[in-house]
Amino acid sequence: MTHPADKVPLLNINQDNKPLRDDFVEALSSVVDSGRFLFGPDVKELEKEVAELSGASHAVGCASGSDALLLSLMALDIGPGDEVIVPSFTFFASVSCVVRLGATPVFVDICPDTFNIDPEGIRQAITANTKAIIPVHLFGQCARIDEICQLAEPHNIPVIEDAAQAIGAGYKGRPAGSWGLTGCFSFYPTKNLGGMGDGGMITSNDADFADRLQLFAGHGMRPRYYHQVVGINSRLDTFQAAVLRVKLRHLEEATRCRKAIASRYTELFEQSGLLDGQQITLPAIDPNADHVWNQYGIRVSSERRDDLRAFLGESGVGSEIYYPIPVHQQECFAALKVDDSQLPETIRASKEILNLPIFPSMSEAEQDRVVAVVTQFYQSGQKQVAA
Ligand SMILES: *Cc1c(COP(=O)(O)O)cnc(C)c1O
Repeated sequence: MTHPADKVPLLNINQDNKPLRDDFVEALSSVVDSGRFLFGPDVKELEKEVAELSGASHAVGCASGSDALLLSLMALDIGPGDEVIVPSFTFFASVSCVVRLGATPVFVDICPDTFNIDPEGIRQAITANTKAIIPVHLFGQCARIDEICQLAEPHNIPVIEDAAQAIGAGYKGRPAGSWGLTGCFSFYPTKNLGGMGDGGMITSNDADFADRLQLFAGHGMRPRYYHQVVGINSRLDTFQAAVLRVKLRHLEEATRCRKAIASRYTELFEQSGLLDGQQITLPAIDPNADHVWNQYGIRVSSERRDDLRAFLGESGVGSEIYYPIPVHQQECFAALKVDDSQLPETIRASKEILNLPIFPSMSEAEQDRVVAVVTQFYQSGQKQVAA
């Protein structure tokens, strides 16, 4: 039996939030007292703060990261006949926004080292119908966004950064969310800046486009009861903004913790001997990227991944597979008939990835335990598949 002290969760949001409890209650109480549940001052303040952090002149709050992506495409008037270049090794929302508007997702494979979309693949996928490119900064590490923006520019193709997992990240010294026409952020509780419910934000350095995003997020209504475009209702409420402003004051410290945990994983695994036998491959860091480690994803051989995951589970160590089914293979996209042979690295990653626990308040003892259990699995030949 596993001793409770040996249990290591994949995430521990309660423990991360605990030291801030009084601040949350105070911030939430003032929203209660203000009665301004929507459009309260905290929303505007958070927009300013996230814009500044992301190196963007504007930011527009919305209901979720998914809506941030959808609104970006809506404000570009993307629809039937338009193509949008996307990765398939990502969360569903990076792609559903395209299909929801009747446009066609064009899937591009990933770089096997970083799991991020391959700029060379993007170059080959651009056609006269390409109306946007959505690179995803997966696991907290920016895609090669400089090259992607350079590729897009001569064609005037807008780049929409899916930075849902990458708030505070950067590339070549420039923040995620400042490169593209928009940067899309999520405040889902497991993200690096996680709220207490849903929330999202769109950054932009284009004042007119930011204004258009605001228009689409508010029913396309301007002035009141006059609808210029068919928008949606997508708002960040004041309670979420109040909570997020408290957390934002501690984001830098939380990110520092994530970075320390990631580099300690690397040290511990290097000492484990598992790298020499190539049982596991550690996450690659692009030297141009400032990685904020929303996830620590290792690769293991596909034959043993599920056994390793089961062994971790039996040993009380949480893990997850982000993502087990590439988006293009999802049942709801069967009609797209996407050719698997064009996405070999995406498919391989979905079979080999294993995401280990990482959260700001994770202790060294917890980390030691994770590495010990992974090492034990390989050293004991646990459930070894016969050669
Ligand atoms: C979380 C996430 C989203 C969606 O954000 P929500 O706030 O959950 O709607 C989009 N893209 C990626 C890559 C994500 O991780």
